[in-house]
Amino acid sequence: MPSLCDHSLESLSLRLTQWNEPPSHAPRILRAHYQTHGQPDWSALPISRSLMRRLNDELSTRPSRLITTHTSADGTQKLLLACEGGTVESVLMPGHRPGVAAGCISSQVGCAMGCDFCASTRDGFVANLSAGQIIDQFLHLRHYAAAIGRRLQTVVFMGMGEPMLNLPAVIESIARMTHPSMGNLGAGRITVSTVGIVPGIDALADCGHKVQLALSLHAPDDETRARLVPMNRRYGIDLIMAAAKRYQLRTGRFVNIEYCLLNEVNDSADHARRLASLMEGFRAHVNIIPYNPIGPALSGITYQRPTPRRLEQFVQILRDYSVVTHIRQPRGDQINAACGQLRRQTLPTMPAAGEPAASTAQSHPAEPVQEPAQR
Ligand code: SF4
Repeated sequence: MPSLCDHSLESLSLRLTQWNEPPSHAPRILRAHYQTHGQPDWSALPISRSLMRRLNDELSTRPSRLITTHTSADGTQKLLLACEGGTVESVLMPGHRPGVAAGCISSQVGCAMGCDFCASTRDGFVANLSAGQIIDQFLHLRHYAAAIGRRLQTVVFMGMGEPMLNLPAVIESIARMTHPSMGNLGAGRITVSTVGIVPGIDALADCGHKVQLALSLHAPDDETRARLVPMNRRYGIDLIMAAAKRYQLRTGRFVNIEYCLLNEVNDSADHARRLASLMEGFRAHVNIIPYNPIGPALSGITYQRPTPRRLEQFVQILRDYSVVTHIRQPRGDQINAACGQLRRQTLPTMPAAGEPAASTAQSHPAEPVQEPAQR
């Protein structure tokens, strides 16, 4: 069943024309859909009763169903959503500043990339998400942010999946998130993360939206990186750093370099110096992500978070070389919602529309959201 989440301004205008309704209603319908996080009250709009009925009957189904939420002691919330193709997770992180929150969105069900420190890839790739399914995560996150008195201020494509391998849907969802009649979010508040799919980086630079790019580097040399990120065998460090610099030139955006720090794997003083040398002349920030445990990796290795002393040494060396370096504090690791911990959940039985959502010991059934009747 189609949803308003699946519509662009153009396609909804066309649909209204087919219904013999004024296409000029499309912006206000979409604005109401986004402003109410997918739960509009059509009677508040100056539209005909027949149009209200058609919107309710034909476009009110959501592309995903909220199954559970988990909340960590630090306020991070993980949403489990079921959609056609499987289940995905999205994460809401209250900001350190009052009133704002960040959302982490998945672009695929599962992931084919095989990064060794990441749980999302354990069961392989299942399906690409549609633009509508990505937008539905956005609306759920907005709803949960509003429920705790915050505004969803930033969105990162750092959930399950490699966004560059589902780029048409990712770009379309960005177009809707940023459109003034839809999400109305600044493009600079959206970050797309990649392990370094070079044609995807170039295509994103050309798409015109000027979002932020995050490059998952994780090692400063090809040998170490290929063990952690198999895609490095196709696009090595020279190629991906060149693509990141091209991205910056074409869009004017800073690039974030993501570096998951693994104890005695990629966290030596030599690794830090080599990373600093890669960053020479490149206006980018390095985000250090102390490893979030996932148990044994695909390789069979059980990685460890670096000791505070090794973390401090690594960061200090980068700063000594004037590399702007941030340490990303683990958020939501108690509920497996931190970087690298999202994974596909298997539901024993999917509840049908209208049936109560499943709940688990530490989870909360999806009660804060008033689900539309037809979801
Ligand atoms: S880090 Fe990203 S690209 Fe790599 S396996 Fe995990 S989800 Fe996929």
